[in-house]
Formats: sequence, structure tokens, C-alpha cells
Amino acid sequence: MTSSTEEQTPHAASLTRPPLRYKTRIAPTPSGFLHLGNVLSFALTALLAERYQATIVLRIDDMDQQRVRPEYVQDIFDTLNFLELPWHEGPRDAASFAGEYAQRHRMPLYRQALEQLKDRGKAFACNCSRKDILQLDISGRYTGACLDRNLDPGQPGLSWRLDTRKPEPLMMNTLQGAVAVALPEDQQYFVVRKKDGCPAYQLSSVVDDAHFGINFIVRGQDLYASTIAQLYLACVLGNDAFQRSLFYHHPLLILPDGSKLSKSAGATSVRYLRREGKTPSAVFTLIGNQLGIPGALKDWRGLSMLLPT
Ligand SMILES: [Zn+2]
Repeated sequence: MTSSTEEQTPHAASLTRPPLRYKTRIAPTPSGFLHLGNVLSFALTALLAERYQATIVLRIDDMDQQRVRPEYVQDIFDTLNFLELPWHEGPRDAASFAGEYAQRHRMPLYRQALEQLKDRGKAFACNCSRKDILQLDISGRYTGACLDRNLDPGQPGLSWRLDTRKPEPLMMNTLQGAVAVALPEDQQYFVVRKKDGCPAYQLSSVVDDAHFGINFIVRGQDLYASTIAQLYLACVLGNDAFQRSLFYHHPLLILPDGSKLSKSAGATSVRYLRREGKTPSAVFTLIGNQLGIPGALKDWRGLSMLLPT
């Protein structure tokens, strides 16, 4: 860290001080069967949790009820148990998830955060359709069309966006130290409440991490910009704990044909492989080989050489 960043950021000193105890999480979305990319993320989380003696929380993001299915929730537990991937807190099975941990149970917390943003004038209502946005910017970036429209945020069917015109001094704690980051162009005015009134992913994720006391976040590199948006949101909400969290963005698993794994990639779902008779060792070997680790891996610990030293 340079001295100039220390001068600019009052939190700089505390950012580099590690918390007394780390708590990380795995946060799958039950909108498809878990695939090898999810397993890689969970395994790296487990490995880093061991290295830092962190507790692992299982957090299932089921806000998008249109895409959530009970068999996908069950698949999360089946996959974690089959691959012997550990977690210490959170639901143990689908029933305890539904009864205690589904995101609807935390709706008052999301609403409270949204009200706070609205009352402080940080969120504004937007009625733009995807087509409206594309007409103003061909790349589909939102350029703030509704900023001065003063639409009534209480009106149903409107999304709420964050007013991101004020650049916040953002620092990201990484395994290599604290780095200064800025909200990327394509994250400007990101949505915090969806048109259906439900919290958007960025908001529920930050609120949930605060609720569960998470201070160490492991996720794919594809979520790097999303992390910066969340740091910005945490700054606006005054959520210091989230801003002090440690982040690690891991490399993504790429298929031999160069494409990224997705939930529609049936043949890479763990459920498919399990039904084909593959063992956990075979699943981790498949992941390891694709990332350049030769030979057979016994279990998730075999992926440890992917981690930075
Ligand atoms: Zn708009």
C-alpha cells in the first residue's frame, strides 16, 4: 500500500489488520444442477478456510423464485455430501433451509437497507425497459436516464438504482494486500431493487454477508466487477465489516472448447457424473486435469496447488 492511499482513505490502516477470526461462505444459487465450476469454487473455499482456520457458512441464494426448483436445492446438499465438501454453519438439509435459511426469512433486513438508501437519497426509481436502455446506449449500459425524473419509488413495477455519481474511495483487501479499486463503467447506477420489489443480487448478497458475519469472500474472477459494486454499496450503507473483508477471486474452469461452464452444460453437472458412476476422486481429477494438474486427485485437497502461495 502506498502512503498516498493511506492519506486518502481513513479506513486504510484498519483494512490491513486481519480480523480475529475468518468466516467464509459458499453461496450457490438453486437455479440449476451444480457443475464442475461450482465445485472448483467450493473446493478452493474449503482449502482457504483450512489455511486461515475459517468457518464456512452455506448460504443458498434463492431470491429468484422464478428459476428456483426444489430439486436444485436438494442437489446442493447431495453434491456437497457426495464430494465431502465441508461447511460448518447454515442449513444441513433442504428442510432446515426452507424452515430457517431461505432468503424470504431475511426480507425485513433487505427492506431496511433499501429504505435506508431511499431515505438518504442514494437510490432512485427507474421505469426503463431493456429496450429503452439500448436506445440510449448501444452497449446496454445505463446512463442515468431516470435520475432527474423523480419517479415515485413507492409506485409498483419500478426498479430502484443506486446513484453512483459520487466516486467513493474503495479499497479491496486481497490475499496480496489492499488495492484501490473504482466502480467500473458498466456497473454505474446498478440495480438494488428489482421491478418485482425483490432486492437485487448485489443488495441481498451484501446484507446476507453482514447478517452471517462473513469477512472472507472467495468467488470466481467473473464476479470481480460485482465485488466492486458490492464494496461501493457497503460504503454507502456504512457497512464497515464488509469493506474490511478479505477477497479472493479464483480462475475459472474453461471447457476444452474454450467455453465457460454454465448451468445448462448438463454433462458437466455433478449429478450427471454421479449417475454415470464417477467417484468423488474422478470428479476432482477431471477439474484438476483441466486446470493443468496432472494425474489423479484423491479429493478436494488435491486442488491446493491452484491457490496462490
Ligand atoms: Zn431509467
